[in-house]
Amino acid sequence: MSCRVRFWGTRGSIPTPGPQTVRYGGNTPCISVSGPGDRLLILDAGSGLRALGHELMASRREGLSADILVSHTHWDHIQGLPFFKPLSAPGNSFCIFGAAQEGVSLEEILRRQMDPMVFPIPLKALAARIQVVEIAEGELPLADFRVSAFRLRHSGTTLGYRLRPSAGGRDIAYVTDNELGPGGTYPVAPDWRSRLTRFLAGADALIHDAMYGEQIIEARRGWGHSTPREAVDLAAEAGCRRVLLFHHEPEHDDDALDRLLAETRDYAARAGYALSVDAAAEGMEFDL
Ligand SMILES: [Zn+2]
Ligand SMILES: [Zn+2]
Repeated sequence: MSCRVRFWGTRGSIPTPGPQTVRYGGNTPCISVSGPGDRLLILDAGSGLRALGHELMASRREGLSADILVSHTHWDHIQGLPFFKPLSAPGNSFCIFGAAQEGVSLEEILRRQMDPMVFPIPLKALAARIQVVEIAEGELPLADFRVSAFRLRHSGTTLGYRLRPSAGGRDIAYVTDNELGPGGTYPVAPDWRSRLTRFLAGADALIHDAMYGEQIIEARRGWGHSTPREAVDLAAEAGCRRVLLFHHEPEHDDDALDRLLAETRDYAARAGYALSVDAAAEGMEFDL
């Protein structure tokens, strides 16, 4: 049985609702991956998580369980959690995985996001069973997937994930908030790039940060993000069949993203890459 991937949020940094962003979407990162079992896997908890929560509540009344893999704890990757309705329902159970940041535990960071100073309901008041598990680079066996985590070039401790369906099938990699170009000082080894390529080798689909266009990247070196061309180069190097541009720049409306996608497809064709290039859009689904 295949696994289904669905995008609930594709935007970087801040939600960008409005008529200019309806096609690619204005919610911040959230992707659901459903395997053959009952336990759902969720990648990141940006504002897109709210709509996923509504769908889950509508379709399955109780006993909902999911693993939530957080890439890192910048707002755009955790801000949906306080609005994820299934957390308020007793009988549901969730496990949130991610790295500690700057010596502060993951649980403490999630608690602070719901501190009374900034949010009316504290994390501990939520009725569902919530387990917070700190992880680092390495392997993580989950219900329907074997997950590998890899440290990215981004501020704080940011993890990219590769999911291998346990029942067999194609792999997907989720690598966002990652600087592929020069610039920035990140605590990664000199062979980071070749290790990353090996980490991704042969994955069927690569979802990768492609926030900045060619016009702006030189001014944004060191900010922890990549260009669509850099994402495509990496996917080709790692032998991925498909790349999905992700973490869209808030200043890019739908027309700008159309142009960026067309330009990137053209670049990939000129480079002779045998892969397909798409831009992730809210509501987009595909099977692994
Ligand atoms: Zn981000
Ligand atoms: Zn970030």
